[in-house]
Amino acid sequence: MHRRWFLVLALALLPVTARAADTPRGLDIYFIDTEGGAATLIVTPTGESVLIDCGNPGGRDAERIHKACTAAGLKAIDHLCITHWHSDHYGGVARLSQLIDIKNYYDHGVPEKLDDDPKGFQLLIGAYKTANGGKSTTLKPGDELKLKQPEKGPALKLLCVSSGGDVIADKPGAPENPVAKEHKPMPEDKSDNARSLGFLLSYGDWRFVDLGDLTWNIEYKLIAPSDKLGLVDVFLSSHHGLNISNNPVLLQTIKPRVTVFNNGAKKGGHPSIIATLRRIPDTQAIYQVHRNLTAGAQENTDPEFIANPDEKCQGEGIKLAVAPDAKSYSLTVGSTGKPKTYETRKR
Ligand SMILES: [Zn+2]
Repeated sequence: MHRRWFLVLALALLPVTARAADTPRGLDIYFIDTEGGAATLIVTPTGESVLIDCGNPGGRDAERIHKACTAAGLKAIDHLCITHWHSDHYGGVARLSQLIDIKNYYDHGVPEKLDDDPKGFQLLIGAYKTANGGKSTTLKPGDELKLKQPEKGPALKLLCVSSGGDVIADKPGAPENPVAKEHKPMPEDKSDNARSLGFLLSYGDWRFVDLGDLTWNIEYKLIAPSDKLGLVDVFLSSHHGLNISNNPVLLQTIKPRVTVFNNGAKKGGHPSIIATLRRIPDTQAIYQVHRNLTAGAQENTDPEFIANPDEKCQGEGIKLAVAPDAKSYSLTVGSTGKPKTYETRKR
């Protein structure tokens, strides 16, 4: 190339690259469609990544997760957290670990056997141990998954709030939560759902809660006698939006402004939970990864907030982007949706 033209080109490119490096990044969350499973990818302002759950066994979900990782510019997954030992939450690990490097693994402890899934468990837990070389960190309520802090901008914190059926402790002197009195207990859930890891992610004032498949009575413990979570901005429906989870006393305490259902076409997204959320005045929007085909149009959220209207789908996801100052965030449905912006709660 002629030297003068090279100089012109170099000068033209310089401000662009300088700007890209200076532009502060916010926090992104990808709610990946695993058709009734779970896979929630968090990418922090420093580019560090946390994947909470990795979908069903086989290639489909792992490939969708890999596609989201590529879109986010990731070369590796820094932290993979498995909320519990049901196949729709960790079955994808064998294939995913072939597609992308996974650096650190976290769970609620690796059991010898699983009473509620005796057949599939040995095979899948074997694949999990192969993927991580037998090394994973057991998280307990109150543990923090240490994330790199952005040089400028709000602080990041990822706190484990539930694990193995236990929850974080009440702060001494914390007031009783009056909403908790309305709790109607369900029979004890002996399945691994009740042992799910649950997380509270905060970025400045912005708050996000993901409780895996935590069920009714343990959800109650999170808000009783005192509320240990506080008001949240975005809530990922527990257990895909099944009605043995998403205890109304939890929802009426944390009052999410935005709820995302990682439901399937015929799993979760239960009308009673959508009705409960609609009755909470703080609710600004409800998103569903799938239209619930077992319910009527009125019992689903509005079509523009649904990523996949049909069972035969392209696996469209929902993307959440928190602004670098954490004062607002936007959600985009599928690859063609227009972002809708919400204000972060003031604290
Ligand atoms: Zn599940």
